[in-house]
Amino acid sequence: MKALYPGSFDPLTLGHLDLINRGCDLFGGVLVAVLKNPEKHSTFDLETRIRQISEATAHLKGVEVISFEGLTVNCAKQNKVDLILRGLRAMSDFEYELQLAHTNRTLDADYETVFLATEAHHSFLSSSVVKEVARHGGETEHMVPQGVAKDLRRLFN
Ligand code: ADP
Repeated sequence: MKALYPGSFDPLTLGHLDLINRGCDLFGGVLVAVLKNPEKHSTFDLETRIRQISEATAHLKGVEVISFEGLTVNCAKQNKVDLILRGLRAMSDFEYELQLAHTNRTLDADYETVFLATEAHHSFLSSSVVKEVARHGGETEHMVPQGVAKDLRRLFN
């Protein structure tokens, strides 16, 4: 089976990586789809985000990284995945994620969204928190893969 894991990943955190790892164990394959959203300014450009994920997942069998634009369900269909994978950290994620999942079901009932609860020690992690820490000179090595920590230092120093 192959799961589609769509997101901004701006940048990838250890929480995202944990979800990719567990998705691989559960489903055999994870297609990480990095959102190209012209309306949303991203800190890292698309190529950088794809490189960061490819490097951090190079040791994992069954992971592919692509970019996508537009509807998640169209990306799912084009790439012949079996399901959509998303993560849940806290109640604050729940409302938004449920809305997305319902919307995707109304667009294409072929695709179920499967949620994995984050590991408790990653539940505080978000791309924006990581950037805030890096912007103020804090260490991010315990929050993101090494390559991303390096990119963050380069960006904010
Ligand atoms: P989006 O902009 O689509 O929400 P994100 O890159 O912020 O993209 O997140 C992609 C997915 O990963 C979402 O389902 C989000 O809930 C999940 N996620 C984000 N951070 C974590 C984390 N620390 N642990 C587990 N899942 C997470």
